Parts: sequence; C-alpha cells; structure tokens
Amino acid sequence: MSEGAIDLQALTKRYGAHAAVSEVSMRVPEGSCLALLGHNGAGKTTLMKLMLGLTRASAGSIAVLGADPGSAGLDFRRRIGFLPENVAFHEEISGLETLRFYARLKKEPLEVCGVLLERVGLTHAAERRVKTYSKGMRQRLGLAQALIGRPRLLLLDEPTTGLDPVLRQEFFRIIQELEAAGATVVLSSHILTELEARTDLIAIMKRGRLVVLGDLDTLRREADLPVRIRVTVSGETAVIAERLGDLVRKRSGEHSLELTCALPDKMAVLGRITALGRAVADIDIELPSLDDVYLRFGHDPEDVS
Ligand code: ATP
Repeated sequence: MSEGAIDLQALTKRYGAHAAVSEVSMRVPEGSCLALLGHNGAGKTTLMKLMLGLTRASAGSIAVLGADPGSAGLDFRRRIGFLPENVAFHEEISGLETLRFYARLKKEPLEVCGVLLERVGLTHAAERRVKTYSKGMRQRLGLAQALIGRPRLLLLDEPTTGLDPVLRQEFFRIIQELEAAGATVVLSSHILTELEARTDLIAIMKRGRLVVLGDLDTLRREADLPVRIRVTVSGETAVIAERLGDLVRKRSGEHSLELTCALPDKMAVLGRITALGRAVADIDIELPSLDDVYLRFGHDPEDVS
C-alpha cells in the first residue's frame, strides 16, 4: 500500500474565535487526485494554506510528503506546486520571464520554462507582457508555474476558472499525466460536473468541518439518494405502469415512465423491469450526480458569504 501524501489528524485553524478549519482528519494516498468541495468560506483555501505551510495550525497535526509543512524548507517547496485561486503576476514582464522568476526561486534549471509554456499552449505568447494576457492565458501561466520542478504534490485552488471547455479538457489531461507519473493532486472547484469522472477522492467541507470523504460511489451510498430509471414502453403504458406501480414517480410522455428506487435495490428493480420482456423498449439509468451528492452534504442554507 502506498504512503499517505497527506495525513491530517484533527487539524484546526482558528482566526480569533472563528474556526476556518475544524478538526479535519484525512489521509490522501500518494498518486491520487482529491477534490475539495464546499460552499464559499467552507475552509478549502485555508486547508490548502495549511498543507503549504503558509499558515500554522492552531491544533491537531499535519504531515505533507512526510514533513511538517510549517517547518519544512526549500526541499519541501520544490516538491510542491501551488496554483492560488487569484493568481497575480507582475504585469510588466513576459510569461517566459515570469516562469524564470519562479524557476529561480525553486532553484530549477531555467530551460524547463520554455517546455512548460509549450505544455500549457503559451509558446506563441512567451515574449508578451503578462498585462496583455487573457484570463485563461493567466490561468495557464499559473499552471505552468505550479508544474515547475515536477512536483510530487500539486495544490490547485479553483484551477479551471476562466478556462474555456477545450482548455479545461486539456488541463485535466495534464493532471492525468502527472497522476500517472505518481504525483498527488488536490484541487478545489465549484464546477462539480467536470470532477465526477476525474477524481479518486472527494472531500466535502461545510463550515470548516469535513462532512464526508470517499470516492463517488461511496458518497452516493452514504448520501442514500434515489436512482432514477426511465423506461420506454413499447406496448400499453398503463399496463406497464400498473405492473411497476410502487416504483413509478411519473409518466414523462406517452411511452415513457420515470421510476425511482434506492441504490441497493437497483439490480432487483432492473430485474423486475426486464421481466416485462418486449413490452419494454429501452431503459436509461441515472445515478445520483456529484451535484446531487453535494447538495445532500455540502449545501449550507445559512451561508451568506
Ligand atoms: P471560497 O470557496 O469562497 O474560496 P473557501 O472554502 O476557500 O472559500 P476559506 O478562504 O478557507 O474558504 O475561508 C474559510 C473561513 O475562514 C471564512 O469564513 C473566511 O472568512 C475565514 N478566513 C480565511 N482567512 C482568514 C484570515 N486571514 N483572517 C480571518 N478570517 C479568515
């Protein structure tokens, strides 16, 4: 079994009386991708800052890549890449000069900068001043900066903000490559649909606390949300509706029925439907989405931030 890239035990960060992060415990295995989800102010950024050693914990313990981020030095920083939520660069220097600046900080060879710009599709703008960059270009420059030195852990705070759909795909392709090479990735996002198939672990935070942690299937089970099944009927809809009566939620068309059942009952219900033979023309199954799971665990009706 692989080592934990991140180990948190009852980690707490207070600002005055307010706990931005409250007793969070989690272990993220090396080489996995963790999505941090939560409402505005849930504590995601603070958790990342703790992992980076940019802020000290008030209580609890934290180990990142086997070290305490609060006291680790250059060697630790070289093994970590960070893309902040609102990445701010010097406006008057070029993209290439920007990357060189960060490469020097990490004591990495400057030659990597051109390669990284190519990787994020910015070679054509390498010599242009950052002030001429679009939001998406700045975001890509931020990602290139985070990739300097082949980090073992990448912390990406809302990394796909400002990227168009094609660049988002490209972004996740880069993330997959890094994971395949054994890097651990932690990212926060409010765009849940893009995370569904792309993360190994999902952590949902609410008011500083970790509400749930697991893969999507685990979260679906814990959320206890219904599975939706649409049955297209080839024969008499009324007859089929009667046979499946207890499951039918509504008739959604002349030849279509919408059913719901609990996740553990899915196979038994499918068995009942297929037993109807040719009277059933088609079946579509819709599992609870990450949006549904998030609303169940992470939604904070009192959140006004
Ligand atoms: P968002 O999705 O809006 O980026 P977040 O989940 O990243 O939110 P944090 O930025 O971690 O949330 O903030 C968590 C809480 O801690 C918020 O209530 C915030 O106001 C508070 N907080 C964060 N940093 C500080 C600080 N330096 N001083 C005081 N309070 C802070």
